[in-house]
Amino acid sequence: MKQRVKRGFLLAAVSTLLVTVCLSCAGKRQEELAGNRKIVNVFTARHYQVDSAIYQEFTRRTGIQIHEVKGTAEELIERMEREGERSSADLFVSVDGGILHMAKESGVLQPIESEAVKRNVPAEWRDPDGYWTGISTRSRVLVYAKDRVNPEDLSSYEALTGERWRGKVLVRSSSSLYNRSLLASFIGLHGEREAAKWAEGIVRNFARAPEGGDKDQVMAIAAKVGDVAIMNTYYIGQMLNSNDLTELEAAKKLGIVFPNQQTTGTHVNISGIGLSKHAPNKENALKLIEFLTGAEGQTMLAMMSYEFPVNAEADMPEWLRSWQGFKRQPVDIAGLGQFYEQAKEIFQRAGWE
Ligand code: FE
Repeated sequence: MKQRVKRGFLLAAVSTLLVTVCLSCAGKRQEELAGNRKIVNVFTARHYQVDSAIYQEFTRRTGIQIHEVKGTAEELIERMEREGERSSADLFVSVDGGILHMAKESGVLQPIESEAVKRNVPAEWRDPDGYWTGISTRSRVLVYAKDRVNPEDLSSYEALTGERWRGKVLVRSSSSLYNRSLLASFIGLHGEREAAKWAEGIVRNFARAPEGGDKDQVMAIAAKVGDVAIMNTYYIGQMLNSNDLTELEAAKKLGIVFPNQQTTGTHVNISGIGLSKHAPNKENALKLIEFLTGAEGQTMLAMMSYEFPVNAEADMPEWLRSWQGFKRQPVDIAGLGQFYEQAKEIFQRAGWE
């Protein structure tokens, strides 16, 4: 009997606790819905330190706290879809125009209604319906060992498939969004057959099976594993400004080529941000988008991440400015998503791990 009373008491206590917890959930949720909390939940697939530094500056100025939820872009979109109206996501941040377009198509975003964002970001780097805006651009270029390569042999992405580069080409795996979008751009520009020929040619010229990220390819050039690599511009900037002396020394030995200047132009991609469809803290989220695309936020981004800013009023390191003005591929970066499946198949057939 005593035992039963005790158990009954315990059950009552637990259910009171559960009810209290649920009420406080609902209260919290209501508060969020009302936008009273000084918080923004950022679902981000970007993995750069600089983002957190910019978020901290935003918090310092506005008192709005930023809570980052990290994952791959696919995971985050899937979670936002699954959680629907219950989602705590205010913003979705990712690299890659195709991914941003995918987020829009998945129905997890809503249009960003902000005159400031329209002023800050040229239309070419924004979704035409306003579902996302670019925050930076980056180009995928060729780098080479200055001591053993004549840059004239490196005029284009296609040149890398020639006999001259047998066993000399370094590049990361095909699971990288950067490579997937690059190949997708070739499918868009030249058709599937030419794109497949390119991938096969690169695989034939691999210095080693793909491993590591873009920076690791530079380290491999320094170690003479290969002579040329395909990589994103900002990683070169990061290495040239690194406190790590080995990275710095490796980067100093590199020459840079913006390929295809006489033909189809260099591949450029973006990083961007979208407003979640059910953003519980919409007003605060809009403030953050405006800060990130504004001249000061953009200057911080360019100075610390070495990506190109999208806001023409932003400042940037002189050498980064000197890289501007190259000829870009005439492709709609958001539209590249339509070629992703084909790109994956081509990589697989070509044996590009
Ligand atoms: Fe990156």
